[in-house]
Amino acid sequence: MLPSAFHWRDQALHCEGVSLASIAQTYGTPVYVYSETAIAQAYAGFASVDSSIPLQVCYAVKANPSLGIIRLLAGLGAGFDIVSQGELQRVLTAGGNPARVVFSGVGKTEEELRFALEQSVGCINVESLHELQQLGDLALAMGLTAPVSVRINPDIDAQTHPYISTGLKENKFGLALPQALEAYRLAHSHPGLRITGVDCHIGSQITSLAPFLAATDRVLAFVDCLAEEGIVLSHIDLGGGLGICYHDENPPTPSALMQALTNQVRQWAGTRARPLPKLVFEFGRAIVGNAGLLVTAVTLLKPGAQASDHNFAVMDAAMNDLMRPSLYGAWHAVIPLSTRPSAGACQAAWDLVGPICESGDWLAKDRPMALAPGDLVAFASAGAYGSAMGSQYNSRPRPPEVLVRANGQVLLLRRRERFEDLILTEQIPAGL
Ligand SMILES: *Cc1c(COP(=O)(O)O)cnc(C)c1O
Repeated sequence: MLPSAFHWRDQALHCEGVSLASIAQTYGTPVYVYSETAIAQAYAGFASVDSSIPLQVCYAVKANPSLGIIRLLAGLGAGFDIVSQGELQRVLTAGGNPARVVFSGVGKTEEELRFALEQSVGCINVESLHELQQLGDLALAMGLTAPVSVRINPDIDAQTHPYISTGLKENKFGLALPQALEAYRLAHSHPGLRITGVDCHIGSQITSLAPFLAATDRVLAFVDCLAEEGIVLSHIDLGGGLGICYHDENPPTPSALMQALTNQVRQWAGTRARPLPKLVFEFGRAIVGNAGLLVTAVTLLKPGAQASDHNFAVMDAAMNDLMRPSLYGAWHAVIPLSTRPSAGACQAAWDLVGPICESGDWLAKDRPMALAPGDLVAFASAGAYGSAMGSQYNSRPRPPEVLVRANGQVLLLRRRERFEDLILTEQIPAGL
């Protein structure tokens, strides 16, 4: 699960030749550490697939919205999949090209739609008839035509955690095919709307090809339906959601997935006398997930009184820093930064927990290892939905984020928050 940019030297874990312990020393703990090479390589796995089909790989900003990471990916030619005005503002601030932005989301507000139109985003992925009508009317009032795709809900089981499954008809996302057809007819006849494509995204952390292929089949059949009505698309957006290896998952590689999907589309197109539409993808987790670690220190140890009791290692990171274990029961590998146990280290099966006042505040359970107070460990696979889901719960300042460049230069993407940041938007009203 560790990309090759993370490696061992002198029994210590390094990122691009820089020891993680030295980063912890400089920036304190907890700290998020990302590898530029690992991000670039994962992106290239999608973007440099050998295909005769034009491709646009959009990075799903919500996986890790750090400005520095957006800038890095913009420089590699990525487009961006956004789900809020704030994410669009991040992309613009980091120098991303709005023409390569697709705006997804089930509940965009009128203010968000207006902003997206003002900024000329490439496409708005519409998820309801209400939104479509609203967008068309808004664009007309602004003297524009809105570029739209309809997100279809193909009713395919992505075989992933229920919270991150989005392509089943019981999920709130997208439109079922009959309603989607209705949406295209409306879009076709509305002077404020310009149909550009079709969109589909069935979930996240998908670890086999089958759900992608099944969803793509449905999308392509739907594109045929549209063609019969004289509606021609310039792109097909097949979404994102490719899983990564956290533990023992064995997902397809980015290039294997891209080969399979581009082959499927090429075969479909080959039997039809139509130009190939551009393919758009929206990957987040598979680009940044394994490129980042959360480095944290053991604050203290609380071994159980009896052999059958839990042994707690209380860390200086908590559920507010890395929420995935609490939220999804997710498993992250815990890697001591040194293979040499510290003096007085205690070997046990440890529950690594945070100091937050919730029993749900745990990061890993039942991990056999030797730990001593002050030891540094890394939670692997924390580049996606890690910092992004962070909060200040328990008035804990959010940790810094650093990017290690291929040349070993360490760049600070976000400084550690201070108390002043915690209270920045608050006031004590006069007379209270
Ligand atoms: C979250 C999301 C993605 C990215 O999902 P990953 O699993 O991170 O690849 C893509 N498209 C949409 C619409 C999303 O909501």
